[in-house]
Amino acid sequence: MTVPRIVVVGSSNTDMVVKGRRLPAPGETVSGGQFVLAAGGKGANQAVAAARLGADVTLVARVGRDIFGDQALENYRKEGIRADYVFRDPDRATGIALILVDQQGENLISVASGANHALTPADVDQAAEPIRAAQVVLLQLEIPLETVCRAAEVAFAAGVPVILNPAPAAPLPDGLLHRVAYLTPNESEAQHLSGVPVEDETSARQAAGRLLAAGARHVIITLGAKGALVASPAETGDRVPSGCHLPERPAGGHHACMVVAQMGTVPFFQLVPGRRVQAVDTTAAGDAFNGALAWALGSGLALDEAVRTACLVGALSVTRLGAQPSLPTKAELDRFAEQGGSPA
Ligand code: ADP
Repeated sequence: MTVPRIVVVGSSNTDMVVKGRRLPAPGETVSGGQFVLAAGGKGANQAVAAARLGADVTLVARVGRDIFGDQALENYRKEGIRADYVFRDPDRATGIALILVDQQGENLISVASGANHALTPADVDQAAEPIRAAQVVLLQLEIPLETVCRAAEVAFAAGVPVILNPAPAAPLPDGLLHRVAYLTPNESEAQHLSGVPVEDETSARQAAGRLLAAGARHVIITLGAKGALVASPAETGDRVPSGCHLPERPAGGHHACMVVAQMGTVPFFQLVPGRRVQAVDTTAAGDAFNGALAWALGSGLALDEAVRTACLVGALSVTRLGAQPSLPTKAELDRFAEQGGSPA
């Protein structure tokens, strides 16, 4: 495998995590939890996920001139992430996320974005050289949308594939999806973007079909413990995943995917099953998945293999507490993959 160059343009936060017996209701205090302070933010988490697996990662981000910004930069140095384009904002604090986790691994998260909201298209332009030289550019939505769009434009113009993890869910501007090679919503984000309530595989296929029709080249909906659904249009010439089939038509209704079919682009679908694990904390599962997907695609794996690998990394991450502390190394992934195990 080659060492893929990956550029992540995204958020950098400090996570303050309390793992308690249960999540408090509004106005309630639940005592007796365990506290962990950790580097976080979707951009930073995904950068670390890819770097721990062996990618050469450049992060484009913005932190404050405060103690948390210092710690973030020290963390990137430790993780071997290039931080030449992690800017220090003179006026805004480093982003902070307050995370509560219960015994089942469910979480509540409140984020003060701070410097992340001041990451500009001009900052992206400064990083144009590494973006153009990357194998994959990885984006999320915890920074201003215009900055996400600029990063997608620069990458697309240079022929560099863009992974957009549309999290947290937000309406996307016209044209952005046409520059996205791999769109990776979770179930609720897929529902938000497509208008299709995603409750099972059939509805996930409908949602994915709509998102393909809206311009994304491939759609990968992550389904928590169930794994991920991959949807690709037939005419891309990409390797056809095994076990693919046409969408089922819902009784009496028009099917979003059938609309796509009429346009001559019948999607292929493949459900990649999740690995059964004991969930401790699902906080960074999506970040683990996306960082791993970038690394795997950048390493030259076919899409179905890359998604399978990303599912393993996502599953491993939910067995541990915290965001970045839960992200596995390549050696840990290899051991986990060798263990086999049953699908969830
Ligand atoms: P998000 O964290 O963005 O909501 P998901 O919950 O869909 O995303 O998780 C991302 C990926 O992580 C899933 O596709 C799956 O591969 C893995 N994963 C998440 N939760 C579990 C779980 N409980 N057991 C096994 N794998 C999981």
